[in-house]
Amino acid sequence: MKNEILVRYAPSPTGIPHIGNIRTAIFDWIYSKSNHGNFILRIEDTDQSRYDPKSETAIYESLEWLGLSWNEIPGKKPDTLKKSYVQSKRKKLYIQIAQELVNSGNAYYDDTTPEELISLRKKQQELGLPPRYDNRGRYRTKEDIDKSKSNGLPIVIRFKVPQNGSIKFTDEIRGKINFNLSEIEDFVILKSDGMPTYHLAHVVDDKDMGITHVFRGEEWISSTPKHLLIHQALNISTPKYIHVPLILGKDKSKLSKRHGAKSVLEYRDQGYLPEALFNYLVLLGWSPGNDEEIMSKSDIIKKFSIEKISESPAVFDQEKLEWMNGIYIRKLSIDKLSKALISYLEKPEIDGCLPDQIKRPINYSQVKSIAPFIQERLKTLKDSTEMLDFFFLADEDIKINKDDYFTKSNQIKDILKSLNEALNIINKIKKFKSDELELLFRTLSKELNIKPGILFTPIRISVTGKKIAPPLFETLEILGRKRCLSRINKAIKLLKE
Ligand code: GLU
Repeated sequence: MKNEILVRYAPSPTGIPHIGNIRTAIFDWIYSKSNHGNFILRIEDTDQSRYDPKSETAIYESLEWLGLSWNEIPGKKPDTLKKSYVQSKRKKLYIQIAQELVNSGNAYYDDTTPEELISLRKKQQELGLPPRYDNRGRYRTKEDIDKSKSNGLPIVIRFKVPQNGSIKFTDEIRGKINFNLSEIEDFVILKSDGMPTYHLAHVVDDKDMGITHVFRGEEWISSTPKHLLIHQALNISTPKYIHVPLILGKDKSKLSKRHGAKSVLEYRDQGYLPEALFNYLVLLGWSPGNDEEIMSKSDIIKKFSIEKISESPAVFDQEKLEWMNGIYIRKLSIDKLSKALISYLEKPEIDGCLPDQIKRPINYSQVKSIAPFIQERLKTLKDSTEMLDFFFLADEDIKINKDDYFTKSNQIKDILKSLNEALNIINKIKKFKSDELELLFRTLSKELNIKPGILFTPIRISVTGKKIAPPLFETLEILGRKRCLSRINKAIKLLKE
């Protein structure tokens, strides 16, 4: 167990996991896999005021959907059925360690009230000074604290930061980083509700659980000296730190919804494939060292190394993600694509899926017969809703917009002519097969001296309700003679009204 790699993904369940968080989880997972180590999930829920149970569920769902399975620490039972470790269940341990730090002179009880802190900040602002705690609690006596306690005032424990000197650590991506201790205020390690802060809790847990590598966002670099100070005070070794680069939008500002970025579950709901999102996210800040982009999970596991994680921020590109998703859709076998389409399309209309009047379950063999004709055109599974709905709708539910039939040069008599000729062919043709249909319709186009595009468009609109749809003759074949006739007849009636 000693030298085994153990990494953790340690989200705070305060919001729906966004792609930045999950990119860290992906790095964790890959690193554990490429080193035959373990990957655990630790729920950091010590900020009870911001705890959101929906967020916790979304964390599990996001990881499961992406296939990032997590393990137990050998010999250490997880706290939940979901096999995760949960900080709020480990409160006693943090209190005990915080007290040890007080006893060893590395921390102290502080009764500074929130009002005092606000007024301190205000004064500093007026003087143009950076806001920071002025370490006033260091000078409170035991009697002061006892008195405040009996008056019901909130008491915290703060870490006593040495006032001079410096502290350094090695970030596995950036190398040595040095901090002046004079810039660090005495920080809270145990809050007045008895819960630890992140600074204390994760250090205690990383040690207690035997974490060897900490992958986390670059925004934590400036807090790392605090963590090192706790390590020193507790005389414990430091794990390796890998601060992964930020993810920015195309305009180089911090990634947000504005840039099209969604939570992982939103991407799932928009019809992205987990393999594509995984592949795309891993390339935000890491590369195999060449131009290769489309890589399977096992390929990535083989190629992954910390040295190839970049120091500079990654730029999120929604269009590239869509492009990559399209590639993954095209890589699917027709069977897999049909199953993916069905499980997507069966969801309610409100989620962008097939209209509710279409009966579920959706017929597998029907989807399988259509899938090859739309596979090339899909960027997301959601795109298929528009391309497929008319196959499943009843003839009377096909909505037609009359204006769609008209171009600058055609007239109603041309349109009706095309449709009547189509009826004629569809009625008479012996084998109702796409290639036979195509042959007859192309011959007709020559006979009538009407360009194929002009002849076919009214037929397409009539049977699908759309100007753009899957290839016409395959569509006719899949719909079948009866439905084609009924839809074209209905369109002729509408055009004559
Ligand atoms: N709970 C922290 C967060 O969600 C984790 C940071 C870390 O991985 O140490 O940002």
